[in-house]
Amino acid sequence: MRVRLVAGLAAFLMMAASGASAAPCSNAAGFPAWLANFKREAAADGISARTIAAALDGVGYDGSVVKLDRGQGVFSQSFFQFSDRMVAKYRIDQGAAQIRKNRAVFDRIEQRFGVPAPVIVAFWGLETDFGANMGDKQTVRSVATLAYDCRRPDMFRTQLVAALKIIDRGDLTVQTMRGPWAGELGQFQFLPDHYLNYGVDFDGDGRVDLLRSTPDALASAANYIVSLGWKRGQPWLEEVRVPANLPWEQADLSIKVPRSQWAGWGVKRAGGGTLPADGVTASLLLPMGRNGPAFLAYPNFDIYTQWNQSLVYATSAAYFATRLNGAGAYARGQGNIAVLSMAQVAELQRLLNARGHHVGGVDGKLGAATRAAVRTEQQRLGLPADSYPTAELIAKLKTGG
Ligand code: CA
Repeated sequence: MRVRLVAGLAAFLMMAASGASAAPCSNAAGFPAWLANFKREAAADGISARTIAAALDGVGYDGSVVKLDRGQGVFSQSFFQFSDRMVAKYRIDQGAAQIRKNRAVFDRIEQRFGVPAPVIVAFWGLETDFGANMGDKQTVRSVATLAYDCRRPDMFRTQLVAALKIIDRGDLTVQTMRGPWAGELGQFQFLPDHYLNYGVDFDGDGRVDLLRSTPDALASAANYIVSLGWKRGQPWLEEVRVPANLPWEQADLSIKVPRSQWAGWGVKRAGGGTLPADGVTASLLLPMGRNGPAFLAYPNFDIYTQWNQSLVYATSAAYFATRLNGAGAYARGQGNIAVLSMAQVAELQRLLNARGHHVGGVDGKLGAATRAAVRTEQQRLGLPADSYPTAELIAKLKTGG
């Protein structure tokens, strides 16, 4: 869940609170004074003196965390690269084994939350390899460092307060609260405020333990998925076959049309069968462009893009869940599909901005705004408007197309 945004209201309140405590946040020297001030504010926020002392007395600035934060790689793998690696056969087998092993818990979860096991297990596999890789840094120290640091103090201040509340509630101790460097916790890598707000005690021991209790972790993931709008009993992703003469400009996550319309345009089920001519809405998702695999993304797919803003991650997680649900491997289409490098995407973004599009920062990352601008330019240039950027498009834009 690393790319998620922090819950709006909490972040806003914390922003207001932290305005008063400007500090020389760029090095370790200012940390003790910042920490003393934060302790007073945490007490005013209702956190017990005992937790504040246990968690923050003697906590030090961790420069290695700041280094990791500065060096964070951006997500630049293609859907083929990422899904080949993350949805490999061994991981599908492991996921299926986990569903069998935890069958009784998953049955209870589906009854209560309406989220089927494959959907939960796919996130479980991608986030931590089913609880195997949860990280081992002391969360309070990492998050306190990042709450002090200049780059994203408001977001991490929210997380630090939430972490203290989790300790206060008795779910974890300062010692057992461990994870990767950026504060994610447990088998599904919840940020502390999600842990606090969506954590469920599903094994009935009175504590929410998202690290060591598998029932707690699985039910909390389901609870969070429901909070994102999951609809019980409805599909999320389905591989399809598309005809060569499809109106490609319709392939966009923001366009949702009834399945009957897709059938009318010649879209078929992956096995060649006809789509039901009903009113269930779906978007056409072409993660590698029109020459690659094709999926119908149903309304439940929206929870994937909220879980993680990377479309490659979201598509891979949803696809993984279909595999665990019995679907076959996707058809690769015309095999060798060129993927733009980050430098090429950055060049494309500059060209798009120069043509009056607003794709945001020139960061080399292929986001929704860049894809939408690509589609508009493809239409203007008479290219198949599948939103998938190619070197051909860059060349046309450079020559003024
Ligand atoms: Ca529990």
